[in-house]
Amino acid sequence: MIRRTKEMLVTALIVLSVYAVKGLPHVQREVTVSTIFESGGGTVQVLSSNPVVISVKPHDEGSGGWSKVWWYFMVDQLVPGEQITIQLDRGEPKSGGISPQAFFSYDQEVWGLTDTGHPLLSDGRAFFVYQHIVRGDKVWFAYDLPYTMEHVERFLLPEVKRHPGADIKELTKTRQNRSVPYIVMEDKSSGLPPQYGIWLQARAHAFESGACWVLHELTLWLLSEDPLAAALRKNAKIYIVPVVDVDAVVEGRTGKYQKPHDHWMEWDVEPEYWPEVGAIKKLLRQMADQNIVDLFIDFHGPGGASHPFFIIPESDKLPFDQQRINRSNFLSTLKAKELTDQAKQSQSMNQIHYSERAWDNQIISSSHEWVTMRTNQHSLAFTIEVNMNTPLSTREGYRSEALTLGRAISAYFTNKQHNK
Ligand SMILES: [Zn+2]
Repeated sequence: MIRRTKEMLVTALIVLSVYAVKGLPHVQREVTVSTIFESGGGTVQVLSSNPVVISVKPHDEGSGGWSKVWWYFMVDQLVPGEQITIQLDRGEPKSGGISPQAFFSYDQEVWGLTDTGHPLLSDGRAFFVYQHIVRGDKVWFAYDLPYTMEHVERFLLPEVKRHPGADIKELTKTRQNRSVPYIVMEDKSSGLPPQYGIWLQARAHAFESGACWVLHELTLWLLSEDPLAAALRKNAKIYIVPVVDVDAVVEGRTGKYQKPHDHWMEWDVEPEYWPEVGAIKKLLRQMADQNIVDLFIDFHGPGGASHPFFIIPESDKLPFDQQRINRSNFLSTLKAKELTDQAKQSQSMNQIHYSERAWDNQIISSSHEWVTMRTNQHSLAFTIEVNMNTPLSTREGYRSEALTLGRAISAYFTNKQHNK
Protein backbone atom coordinates (compact mmCIF):
# COMPACT_ATOMS: atom_id res chain seq x y z
CA MET A 1 0.00 0.00 0.00
CA ILE A 2 2.79 2.35 0.95
CA ARG A 3 4.68 1.33 -2.20
CA ARG A 4 1.67 1.97 -4.40
CA THR A 5 1.16 5.45 -2.95
CA LYS A 6 4.78 6.24 -3.68
CA GLU A 7 4.38 5.08 -7.30
CA MET A 8 1.27 7.23 -7.65
CA LEU A 9 3.12 10.20 -6.21
CA VAL A 10 6.01 9.75 -8.65
CA THR A 11 3.56 9.47 -11.56
CA ALA A 12 1.76 12.60 -10.41
CA LEU A 13 5.04 14.51 -10.13
CA ILE A 14 6.04 13.49 -13.66
CA VAL A 15 2.66 14.60 -15.03
CA LEU A 16 2.95 17.89 -13.18
CA SER A 17 6.45 18.51 -14.45
CA VAL A 18 5.31 17.90 -18.03
CA TYR A 19 2.63 20.54 -17.74
CA ALA A 20 4.22 22.94 -15.33
CA VAL A 21 6.10 25.95 -16.60
CA LYS A 22 9.05 26.74 -14.42
CA GLY A 23 8.32 29.58 -12.00
CA LEU A 24 4.82 30.05 -13.35
CA PRO A 25 1.41 28.65 -12.37
CA HIS A 26 0.89 25.11 -13.57
CA VAL A 27 -0.74 24.99 -16.99
CA GLN A 28 -1.88 22.19 -19.19
CA ARG A 29 -0.92 22.94 -22.75
CA GLU A 30 0.78 21.69 -25.86
CA VAL A 31 2.86 24.27 -27.70
CA THR A 32 2.07 24.42 -31.43
CA VAL A 33 3.79 26.05 -34.41
CA SER A 34 2.56 27.08 -37.85
CA THR A 35 3.83 28.58 -41.10
CA ILE A 36 0.41 28.49 -42.79
CA PHE A 37 0.00 32.22 -43.46
CA GLU A 38 1.32 34.62 -46.08
CA SER A 39 5.14 34.53 -46.22
CA GLY A 40 5.25 31.85 -43.49
CA GLY A 41 8.27 29.68 -44.24
CA GLY A 42 10.94 27.29 -43.06
CA THR A 43 10.58 23.88 -41.44
CA VAL A 44 9.55 24.33 -37.82
CA GLN A 45 9.25 21.73 -35.07
CA VAL A 46 8.49 21.79 -31.33
CA LEU A 47 11.35 19.95 -29.64
CA SER A 48 10.00 20.51 -26.14
CA SER A 49 6.98 22.21 -24.58
CA ASN A 50 8.56 22.57 -21.16
CA PRO A 51 10.79 24.42 -21.42
CA VAL A 52 9.73 25.63 -24.88
CA VAL A 53 12.37 24.73 -27.45
CA ILE A 54 11.65 25.19 -31.16
CA SER A 55 13.78 23.99 -34.05
CA VAL A 56 13.69 25.92 -37.34
CA LYS A 57 15.38 25.17 -40.64
CA PRO A 58 15.35 28.06 -43.13
CA HIS A 59 13.50 27.55 -46.39
CA ASP A 60 15.95 25.98 -48.85
CA GLU A 61 16.02 26.65 -52.61
CA GLY A 62 18.53 23.82 -52.88
CA SER A 63 21.84 25.58 -53.49
CA GLY A 64 23.12 25.99 -49.90
CA GLY A 65 24.46 29.28 -48.46
CA TRP A 66 22.28 32.24 -49.45
CA SER A 67 19.64 29.96 -51.00
CA LYS A 68 18.50 28.95 -47.51
CA VAL A 69 17.80 32.01 -45.44
CA TRP A 70 14.08 32.77 -44.93
CA TRP A 71 11.95 31.61 -41.99
CA TYR A 72 8.81 33.06 -40.45
CA PHE A 73 6.56 31.12 -38.08
CA MET A 74 3.95 31.42 -35.34
CA VAL A 75 4.09 29.77 -31.91
CA ASP A 76 0.88 29.29 -29.94
CA GLN A 77 -0.09 28.13 -26.42
CA LEU A 78 2.69 30.04 -24.70
CA VAL A 79 2.50 31.47 -21.20
CA PRO A 80 3.39 35.15 -20.80
CA GLY A 81 6.62 35.42 -18.85
CA GLU A 82 8.15 32.12 -19.96
CA GLN A 83 11.31 31.88 -22.02
CA ILE A 84 11.31 30.37 -25.48
CA THR A 85 14.44 29.01 -27.13
CA ILE A 86 14.70 28.93 -30.92
CA GLN A 87 17.39 26.71 -32.41
CA LEU A 88 18.12 27.76 -35.98
CA ASP A 89 19.50 24.62 -37.65
CA ARG A 90 22.04 25.80 -40.23
CA GLY A 91 22.28 22.36 -41.85
CA GLU A 92 24.91 21.02 -44.21
CA PRO A 93 25.99 22.83 -46.34
CA LYS A 94 25.52 25.66 -43.87
CA SER A 95 22.83 28.28 -44.41
CA GLY A 96 23.88 31.80 -45.45
CA GLY A 97 22.61 34.97 -43.81
CA ILE A 98 22.07 34.85 -40.08
CA SER A 99 20.12 37.60 -38.36
CA PRO A 100 22.01 38.37 -35.14
CA GLN A 101 18.63 39.28 -33.65
CA ALA A 102 15.33 37.77 -34.79
CA PHE A 103 12.14 39.80 -35.18
CA PHE A 104 9.12 39.03 -32.99
CA SER A 105 5.53 40.28 -32.96
CA TYR A 106 2.27 39.62 -31.13
CA ASP A 107 0.04 40.89 -33.95
CA GLN A 108 2.20 40.78 -37.15
CA GLU A 109 2.07 44.58 -37.24
CA VAL A 110 4.25 45.87 -34.41
CA TRP A 111 7.65 44.17 -34.44
CA GLY A 112 10.60 44.12 -32.07
CA LEU A 113 14.03 42.51 -32.01
CA THR A 114 15.02 39.69 -29.69
CA ASP A 115 18.28 39.84 -27.79
CA THR A 116 21.32 38.90 -29.86
CA GLY A 117 21.53 35.16 -30.42
CA HIS A 118 24.63 33.01 -30.24
CA PRO A 119 26.19 30.28 -32.38
CA LEU A 120 26.18 26.75 -31.04
CA LEU A 121 28.01 23.66 -32.30
CA SER A 122 26.34 20.43 -31.24
CA ASP A 123 27.49 16.99 -32.43
CA GLY A 124 29.37 18.71 -35.25
CA ARG A 125 26.20 20.50 -36.45
CA ALA A 126 25.98 24.31 -36.51
CA PHE A 127 23.06 26.09 -34.85
CA PHE A 128 22.27 29.69 -34.01
CA VAL A 129 20.23 30.08 -30.84
CA TYR A 130 17.80 32.85 -29.92
CA GLN A 131 16.08 33.20 -26.55
CA HIS A 132 13.13 35.41 -25.77
CA ILE A 133 10.80 35.96 -22.83
CA VAL A 134 7.31 36.06 -24.28
CA ARG A 135 4.64 38.60 -23.35
CA GLY A 136 1.63 36.89 -24.96
CA ASP A 137 0.30 33.41 -25.65
CA LYS A 138 0.86 33.65 -29.41
CA VAL A 139 4.06 35.02 -30.99
CA TRP A 140 5.38 35.32 -34.54
CA PHE A 141 9.11 35.12 -35.19
CA ALA A 142 10.84 36.02 -38.45
CA TYR A 143 14.27 36.21 -40.03
CA ASP A 144 13.62 39.88 -40.76
CA LEU A 145 10.89 42.51 -40.65
CA PRO A 146 8.26 40.85 -42.87
CA TYR A 147 6.77 42.62 -45.88
CA THR A 148 4.11 40.69 -47.77
CA MET A 149 1.59 41.30 -50.54
CA GLU A 150 -0.87 42.14 -47.75
CA HIS A 151 1.32 45.17 -46.96
CA VAL A 152 1.14 46.20 -50.63
CA GLU A 153 -2.63 45.81 -50.73
CA ARG A 154 -3.46 47.30 -47.33
CA PHE A 155 -0.90 50.06 -46.89
CA LEU A 156 0.53 51.02 -50.28
CA LEU A 157 -2.03 50.68 -53.08
CA PRO A 158 -4.76 52.63 -51.20
CA GLU A 159 -2.34 55.61 -51.01
CA VAL A 160 -1.67 55.30 -54.75
CA LYS A 161 -5.43 55.19 -55.49
CA ARG A 162 -5.91 58.47 -53.62
CA HIS A 163 -3.36 60.26 -55.83
CA PRO A 164 -4.67 61.76 -59.11
CA GLY A 165 -1.30 61.41 -60.85
CA ALA A 166 -0.75 57.73 -60.07
CA ASP A 167 -2.17 54.49 -61.45
CA ILE A 168 -2.02 50.83 -60.45
CA LYS A 169 -1.61 48.33 -63.29
CA GLU A 170 -0.99 44.62 -63.63
CA LEU A 171 2.50 43.77 -64.80
CA THR A 172 1.71 40.11 -65.48
CA LYS A 173 0.53 36.92 -63.83
CA THR A 174 3.18 34.78 -62.16
CA ARG A 175 3.87 31.15 -63.05
CA GLN A 176 1.48 30.33 -60.17
CA ASN A 177 -1.11 32.69 -61.66
CA ARG A 178 -0.80 35.43 -59.03
CA SER A 179 -1.17 39.05 -60.06
CA VAL A 180 1.93 41.28 -60.00
CA PRO A 181 0.94 44.93 -59.54
CA TYR A 182 3.00 47.94 -60.55
CA ILE A 183 2.52 51.66 -60.07
CA VAL A 184 2.94 54.43 -62.63
CA MET A 185 3.25 58.08 -61.62
CA GLU A 186 2.97 60.62 -64.39
CA ASP A 187 2.13 64.31 -64.39
CA LYS A 188 0.26 64.81 -67.66
CA SER A 189 -0.67 68.46 -66.98
CA SER A 190 1.86 69.86 -69.49
CA GLY A 191 0.53 67.68 -72.33
CA LEU A 192 4.15 66.93 -73.27
CA PRO A 193 5.87 63.52 -73.23
CA PRO A 194 7.86 62.83 -70.03
CA GLN A 195 11.35 64.27 -69.96
CA TYR A 196 12.79 61.46 -67.85
CA GLY A 197 11.87 57.91 -66.88
CA ILE A 198 12.66 56.14 -63.60
CA TRP A 199 12.22 52.42 -62.85
CA LEU A 200 12.24 51.20 -59.23
CA GLN A 201 11.71 47.59 -58.21
CA ALA A 202 12.22 45.43 -55.10
CA ARG A 203 12.30 41.84 -53.96
CA ALA A 204 13.81 39.99 -56.91
CA HIS A 205 15.16 37.97 -53.96
CA ALA A 206 12.21 37.06 -51.78
CA PHE A 207 13.97 36.85 -48.41
CA GLU A 208 15.17 40.46 -48.69
CA SER A 209 12.10 41.98 -47.05
CA GLY A 210 13.97 45.15 -46.02
CA ALA A 211 14.31 46.04 -49.71
CA CYS A 212 10.51 46.30 -49.90
CA TRP A 213 10.36 48.53 -46.84
CA VAL A 214 12.73 51.07 -48.41
CA LEU A 215 10.79 51.07 -51.68
CA HIS A 216 7.48 51.27 -49.78
CA GLU A 217 8.63 54.38 -47.91
CA LEU A 218 10.14 55.87 -51.08
CA THR A 219 6.84 55.34 -52.92
CA LEU A 220 4.90 57.10 -50.13
CA TRP A 221 7.37 59.97 -50.27
CA LEU A 222 7.12 60.20 -54.07
CA LEU A 223 3.33 60.52 -53.70
CA SER A 224 3.70 63.21 -51.06
CA GLU A 225 3.44 67.00 -51.27
CA ASP A 226 7.11 67.44 -50.36
CA PRO A 227 8.26 70.07 -52.91
CA LEU A 228 11.16 67.85 -54.02
CA ALA A 229 8.78 64.92 -54.64
CA ALA A 230 6.36 67.15 -56.54
CA ALA A 231 9.22 68.58 -58.64
CA LEU A 232 10.40 65.09 -59.54
CA ARG A 233 6.88 63.96 -60.52
CA LYS A 234 6.67 66.97 -62.85
CA ASN A 235 9.86 65.96 -64.64
CA ALA A 236 9.77 62.18 -64.64
CA LYS A 237 7.47 59.27 -65.33
CA ILE A 238 8.05 56.84 -62.48
CA TYR A 239 7.44 53.09 -62.60
CA ILE A 240 7.45 51.07 -59.35
CA VAL A 241 7.22 47.29 -58.90
CA PRO A 242 6.81 46.83 -55.10
CA VAL A 243 7.41 43.03 -55.25
CA VAL A 244 8.99 41.30 -58.25
CA ASP A 245 8.94 37.65 -57.11
CA VAL A 246 5.37 37.54 -55.79
CA ASP A 247 5.20 33.72 -55.76
CA ALA A 248 8.24 33.26 -53.52
CA VAL A 249 7.17 36.08 -51.17
CA VAL A 250 3.65 34.66 -50.74
CA GLU A 251 4.94 31.09 -50.36
CA GLY A 252 7.55 32.08 -47.76
CA ARG A 253 10.52 30.96 -49.83
CA THR A 254 14.08 32.29 -49.83
CA GLY A 255 13.96 33.00 -53.59
CA LYS A 256 17.67 33.60 -54.08
CA TYR A 257 19.43 30.99 -56.27
CA GLN A 258 16.14 29.24 -57.02
CA LYS A 259 16.11 26.99 -60.07
CA PRO A 260 16.65 27.43 -62.97
CA HIS A 261 17.90 30.90 -61.95
CA ASP A 262 16.57 33.66 -59.74
CA HIS A 263 14.84 36.92 -60.68
CA TRP A 264 17.99 39.03 -60.51
CA MET A 265 20.16 36.82 -62.72
CA GLU A 266 20.26 35.67 -66.34
CA TRP A 267 18.38 38.74 -67.56
CA ASP A 268 19.85 38.24 -71.04
CA VAL A 269 18.30 34.78 -71.43
CA GLU A 270 15.31 34.73 -73.77
CA PRO A 271 12.59 33.66 -73.78
CA GLU A 272 12.44 34.57 -70.10
CA TYR A 273 11.60 31.79 -67.65
CA TRP A 274 9.92 34.24 -65.24
CA PRO A 275 6.92 36.13 -66.68
CA GLU A 276 7.71 39.02 -64.28
CA VAL A 277 11.19 39.52 -65.75
CA GLY A 278 9.84 39.23 -69.30
CA ALA A 279 7.17 41.86 -68.60
CA ILE A 280 9.66 44.22 -66.92
CA LYS A 281 12.07 43.96 -69.86
CA LYS A 282 9.24 44.63 -72.31
CA LEU A 283 8.30 47.86 -70.52
CA LEU A 284 11.95 48.90 -70.21
CA ARG A 285 12.37 48.37 -73.97
CA GLN A 286 9.34 50.60 -74.59
CA MET A 287 10.90 53.24 -72.34
CA ALA A 288 14.22 52.83 -74.17
CA ASP A 289 12.41 53.50 -77.49
CA GLN A 290 11.23 56.78 -75.93
CA ASN A 291 14.80 57.43 -74.72
CA ILE A 292 13.68 57.55 -71.06
CA VAL A 293 15.43 54.71 -69.25
CA ASP A 294 17.21 57.35 -67.19
CA LEU A 295 17.43 55.64 -63.81
CA PHE A 296 16.88 52.01 -62.81
CA ILE A 297 17.25 50.79 -59.21
CA ASP A 298 16.77 47.17 -58.13
CA PHE A 299 16.36 47.11 -54.32
CA HIS A 300 18.08 44.24 -52.51
CA GLY A 301 19.50 43.41 -49.06
CA PRO A 302 21.11 42.74 -46.76
CA GLY A 303 23.89 45.25 -46.49
CA GLY A 304 24.71 44.08 -42.94
CA ALA A 305 25.57 46.30 -40.04
CA SER A 306 27.31 49.05 -42.01
CA HIS A 307 25.65 51.25 -44.67
CA PRO A 308 23.35 50.83 -47.65
CA PHE A 309 25.39 50.56 -50.84
CA PHE A 310 25.11 50.33 -54.60
CA ILE A 311 26.75 47.44 -56.40
CA ILE A 312 28.30 49.06 -59.48
CA PRO A 313 30.59 47.88 -62.28
CA GLU A 314 34.07 49.38 -62.57
CA SER A 315 33.77 52.71 -64.35
CA ASP A 316 35.90 51.67 -67.34
CA LYS A 317 33.57 48.72 -67.98
CA LEU A 318 30.60 51.00 -68.58
CA PRO A 319 29.95 50.89 -72.33
CA PHE A 320 29.08 54.57 -72.83
CA ASP A 321 30.72 57.86 -71.75
CA GLN A 322 27.35 59.38 -70.84
CA GLN A 323 26.79 56.59 -68.34
CA ARG A 324 30.17 57.34 -66.75
CA ILE A 325 29.43 61.07 -66.49
CA ASN A 326 25.90 60.52 -65.21
CA ARG A 327 27.01 57.99 -62.64
CA SER A 328 29.61 60.36 -61.29
CA ASN A 329 27.05 63.22 -61.13
CA PHE A 330 24.47 61.05 -59.42
CA LEU A 331 26.85 59.64 -56.81
CA SER A 332 28.11 63.13 -55.99
CA THR A 333 24.54 64.51 -55.70
CA LEU A 334 23.86 61.64 -53.30
CA LYS A 335 27.16 62.35 -51.48
CA ALA A 336 27.80 58.60 -51.80
CA LYS A 337 31.09 57.25 -50.46
CA GLU A 338 33.15 54.23 -51.38
CA LEU A 339 32.42 51.22 -49.18
CA THR A 340 35.94 50.65 -47.85
CA ASP A 341 36.91 48.31 -45.00
CA GLN A 342 37.05 51.38 -42.76
CA ALA A 343 33.56 52.51 -43.82
CA LYS A 344 32.24 49.06 -42.92
CA GLN A 345 33.23 49.71 -39.30
CA SER A 346 30.47 52.31 -38.89
CA GLN A 347 26.75 52.05 -39.45
CA SER A 348 23.93 54.21 -40.83
CA MET A 349 20.72 53.94 -42.79
CA ASN A 350 21.22 57.12 -44.78
CA GLN A 351 24.86 57.44 -45.81
CA ILE A 352 24.72 55.64 -49.14
CA HIS A 353 27.95 53.99 -50.27
CA TYR A 354 29.02 52.23 -53.46
CA SER A 355 31.07 49.13 -54.10
CA GLU A 356 32.69 48.48 -57.48
CA ARG A 357 32.56 44.88 -58.65
CA ALA A 358 34.65 43.31 -61.39
CA TRP A 359 32.51 42.77 -64.47
CA ASP A 360 33.22 41.26 -67.84
CA ASN A 361 30.76 43.32 -69.85
CA GLN A 362 30.56 40.59 -72.50
CA ILE A 363 28.51 38.56 -70.04
CA ILE A 364 25.19 40.10 -69.07
CA SER A 365 23.48 38.47 -66.13
CA SER A 366 22.12 40.74 -63.38
CA SER A 367 19.26 43.20 -63.87
CA HIS A 368 21.46 46.32 -63.69
CA GLU A 369 23.94 44.83 -66.19
CA TRP A 370 21.10 44.19 -68.66
CA VAL A 371 19.77 47.74 -68.29
CA THR A 372 23.28 49.19 -68.66
CA MET A 373 23.95 47.28 -71.89
CA ARG A 374 20.53 46.98 -73.51
CA THR A 375 18.60 50.22 -72.96
CA ASN A 376 19.89 53.79 -73.46
CA GLN A 377 23.42 55.15 -73.68
CA HIS A 378 22.70 57.51 -70.78
CA SER A 379 20.97 54.93 -68.52
CA LEU A 380 22.00 54.77 -64.90
CA ALA A 381 21.37 51.28 -63.50
CA PHE A 382 22.00 50.15 -59.95
CA THR A 383 21.42 47.30 -57.59
CA ILE A 384 21.26 48.65 -54.04
CA GLU A 385 21.87 46.58 -50.92
CA VAL A 386 19.73 48.04 -48.15
CA ASN A 387 21.03 47.21 -44.70
CA MET A 388 18.72 44.66 -43.16
CA ASN A 389 19.16 42.81 -39.87
CA THR A 390 20.45 45.68 -37.79
CA PRO A 391 18.97 47.52 -34.81
CA LEU A 392 18.51 50.48 -37.20
CA SER A 393 16.52 48.35 -39.67
CA THR A 394 13.16 49.53 -38.41
CA ARG A 395 10.34 51.17 -40.33
CA GLU A 396 11.79 54.58 -39.34
CA GLY A 397 15.29 53.51 -40.39
CA TYR A 398 14.09 52.30 -43.77
CA ARG A 399 12.16 55.56 -44.19
CA SER A 400 15.28 57.65 -43.58
CA GLU A 401 17.09 55.60 -46.23
CA ALA A 402 14.19 56.12 -48.67
CA LEU A 403 14.15 59.90 -48.09
CA THR A 404 17.90 60.17 -48.66
CA LEU A 405 17.49 58.43 -51.99
CA GLY A 406 14.32 60.28 -53.00
CA ARG A 407 15.70 63.74 -52.29
CA ALA A 408 18.92 62.99 -54.19
CA ILE A 409 17.03 61.55 -57.19
CA SER A 410 14.90 64.69 -57.29
CA ALA A 411 17.90 67.02 -57.01
CA TYR A 412 19.78 65.09 -59.70
CA PHE A 413 17.01 65.38 -62.28
CA THR A 414 15.59 68.79 -61.44
CA ASN A 415 19.10 70.33 -61.33
CA LYS A 416 19.76 68.95 -64.82
CA GLN A 417 22.63 66.70 -63.77
CA HIS A 418 21.47 63.94 -66.12
CA ASN A 419 22.97 64.19 -69.61
CA LYS A 420 21.31 62.60 -72.61
ZN1 LIG B 1 19.43 40.19 -53.54
